[in-house]
Amino acid sequence: MKVHFLGTAAAEGYPGLFCRCEHCRRAKERGGRDIRTRSSVILNDTLKIDFPPDTLLHVLRDGIDLGCVRDLFITHTHLDHLRAEDLLLRMPVYAHGLDRPLRVYGHDAAVRKCRDAVGYANPERIDVRRIVPFETVDTGTALVTALPANHDPEETCLLYYIETGGRTLFYGHDTGPLPDDAWAWLSGRRIDLAILDCTNGTLPFTGGHLNVEAVLGIRDRMKGEGMLGPDGRVVATHFSHNIGLMHEDLVSIFAPEGIEVAYDGFVLSV
Ligand SMILES: [Zn+2]
Ligand SMILES: [Zn+2]
Ligand SMILES: [Zn+2]
Repeated sequence: MKVHFLGTAAAEGYPGLFCRCEHCRRAKERGGRDIRTRSSVILNDTLKIDFPPDTLLHVLRDGIDLGCVRDLFITHTHLDHLRAEDLLLRMPVYAHGLDRPLRVYGHDAAVRKCRDAVGYANPERIDVRRIVPFETVDTGTALVTALPANHDPEETCLLYYIETGGRTLFYGHDTGPLPDDAWAWLSGRRIDLAILDCTNGTLPFTGGHLNVEAVLGIRDRMKGEGMLGPDGRVVATHFSHNIGLMHEDLVSIFAPEGIEVAYDGFVLSV
């Protein structure tokens, strides 16, 4: 499975869109891996998770052909994960040369936001489908199971367990400590790659997101319960500017633990 990280920041971006804090100033000066945009990944060039406001930037920066993406899974409707209005740009006049619909999956709130943006016309361009926790979708290229997140009490936020080509990915953000029923579903399953929320870095833990200590705790439990084998990989992502850590700081925290730190444009294969 090829995993391409398009964006690895929390909602505001890092540097933040309007922010003039010391951390954002440093990140701007340093550039490279210290520049983080709003979060998304593409798997095997065909399955995308989330549709943030920086999608055009991702396409231009990394040479992405979004026409190759068949399935788009939305975790939740926060502004850094779903800019539904941009889905309109897949409609006739705005986009040419598309040979299949983009299937867009999400829970109630995400489906509503997408419908409000694109309506019901042109199903050959956008095919919006509701998915509920613990439901498994066979996309033809992957089996994708939605799991409940612990993120925003106002909506059902989803995490995803994805199986393709005999390899498995747990997509674990945005979330705080995983709900018991998500752990129960994962029990007995193998995880080749876990991508985890590390919004809070070394700051104290807050609800709805994870920090370094919480990432280590989830990794330890996944190992302890046999989900994560000796070759299983863990990647931390979705970093807030408030943590004040540059990419190299995060690497020096996580590398001794055998955990990788995502950056924009990072491509890995599991
Ligand atoms: Zn987020
Ligand atoms: Zn800032
Ligand atoms: Zn969120």
